[in-house]
Amino acid sequence: MIRLGVFGNPIQHSLSPGIHRLFAEQRSDNIQYERYLTTPGQFRHRIAAFFRDGGAGANVTLPFKEHAAALCTQLTERARLAGAVNTLIPQELGGLIGDNTDGEGLVIDLKNKGYKVSGCSLVVYGAGGSARGILPILLQQRPACVHLVNRTVSKAERLKADLLALGVAEEKTITVCESAEFITTPVDLLINATSSSLTGQSLPLPPHLSDGACGYDLMYAPEATVFLRQLQAAGCQQCSDGFGMLVEQAASSYQRWMGGDRPTTASVIQQLSPGI
Ligand code: NDP
Repeated sequence: MIRLGVFGNPIQHSLSPGIHRLFAEQRSDNIQYERYLTTPGQFRHRIAAFFRDGGAGANVTLPFKEHAAALCTQLTERARLAGAVNTLIPQELGGLIGDNTDGEGLVIDLKNKGYKVSGCSLVVYGAGGSARGILPILLQQRPACVHLVNRTVSKAERLKADLLALGVAEEKTITVCESAEFITTPVDLLINATSSSLTGQSLPLPPHLSDGACGYDLMYAPEATVFLRQLQAAGCQQCSDGFGMLVEQAASSYQRWMGGDRPTTASVIQQLSPGI
């Protein structure tokens, strides 16, 4: 039995155990994947105990992705770029490799859904762990510009500075603001990487959406999130929640732990999707 799991707070809502069970069935792998509720004070100790007791891999979710990066003895390039880790892999001689599969999961899901990033004007809300995970790979798709919006504007400014220092974008590609109300040019794609939808809070939208503008909320839920409802009301053509991203990032994690081919995702998305 191969022990895997996900650490977070809250964690009870996580659909990861069901997703990984379906991946394991595809390949007849014998796994046990559990949810672990933890606190900032216990996080380090719980992770150490999990791997000491034979854990073969773990996911980390809100709000511990940056804590997880600090625990690792080695980071993949994309985890280092993100400064946040969602996948922990034990090393043979002790220590942990930290990876971040969130950005890859988002970009694969956007592609599957036919959303365009290259040459487009993007709004990305948020400057936390998931924003750090998705922005480097989004910027690699060469959008025309990215408006980085966060209510704590200093965090968005720090994130922009980190992205520039890493060389993943030019100064003029990223603008930072406290509210999307201040964006004066039309926007093609709006991505919510805040946790506003967890508490059902709305976000100010930019005043101008281009024809055919699309929206994506990283949060997934049985019903359209407040953010997606706002976008639909504003005339967005296509809106999606983050369930596809969740499955895609999970497939990338699973492959890291177990080797072999990347699990097939379309059937898993169809079987487990809770929402729109
Ligand atoms: P973090 O706690 O690291 O960051 C939270 C961010 O949300 C911060 O930028 C914070 O702003 C902002 N925020 C929180 N509440 C509000 C609000 N009411 N209004 C405006 N901004 C707010 O969280 P993560 O980045 O890890 O996760 C964010 C969301 O993404 C969660 O809903 C999570 O479930 C989802 N997610 C989904 C994934 C998927 O696979 N589908 C993968 C990863 C995340 P401030 O800095 O001002 O506090």
